[in-house]
Amino acid sequence: MGKIDELAGIMDTSSRIVFFGGAGMSTESGIPDFRSADGIYNQKLERKFSPEEMVSHTFLLRHPNEFFEFLFDKMIFLEAEPNAGHYALADLEKRGKLLAVVTQNIDGLHQAADSKNVCELHGSLMHWYCMGCGRRYTLEYALQNKPVPACKDCGGIVRPDVVLYEEALNEVVIEAAVKAIRKADTLIVGGTSLAVYPAAGLLDYFRGDNLVVINKTATKADMGANLVIREPIGKVLSGVGRKIMP
Ligand SMILES: [Zn+2]
Repeated sequence: MGKIDELAGIMDTSSRIVFFGGAGMSTESGIPDFRSADGIYNQKLERKFSPEEMVSHTFLLRHPNEFFEFLFDKMIFLEAEPNAGHYALADLEKRGKLLAVVTQNIDGLHQAADSKNVCELHGSLMHWYCMGCGRRYTLEYALQNKPVPACKDCGGIVRPDVVLYEEALNEVVIEAAVKAIRKADTLIVGGTSLAVYPAAGLLDYFRGDNLVVINKTATKADMGANLVIREPIGKVLSGVGRKIMP
């Protein structure tokens, strides 16, 4: 029996699947993992910065122009669309087999594929807010108000509602993710090496029967997994989606 059949078998007998995903989920939609980018030499600041430095809280405050330039150029992909993997997960949710998608991605592609219960651990580029008064804004507003989007009410900087380096995660989102993982009978970890905080820690809450890891490279969860598939996540999920009976 092939691994895809094995996964289909697990999914058939599961009714409370939780999917935990990372950057690999989006690369198949043409969105590169920004951490894989080389350091960027910023001519105005006459220094080379790592991608992590560029998307830190300190950098946003000290160099807003360069922060937004990097964000708009390297992190926002307006043409990106959900791939077969995103649609397969949305379909599982509609059929009542999937409890939640927990994702480290900030591109909103799960919602674009019509997934409803999505825990975005690192926030979303689809949502923006004013740092001065808290007024909410859309990505569209930000795009129309470059280089540094400003608030209509107070003139404050309008920033994306994503978790930057040095910033705390949203407690409400974490709690929702923990709750879903605790209830899950099957946890599928896909497209993440689990290297980024707090990914690996969240997996400790899983008490279900089947831990499945789908990733091109080794992950921290491989040891305890029932099934490990070393292939692209989107390809595997769409392949298995066709095998499960409606
Ligand atoms: Zn404001």
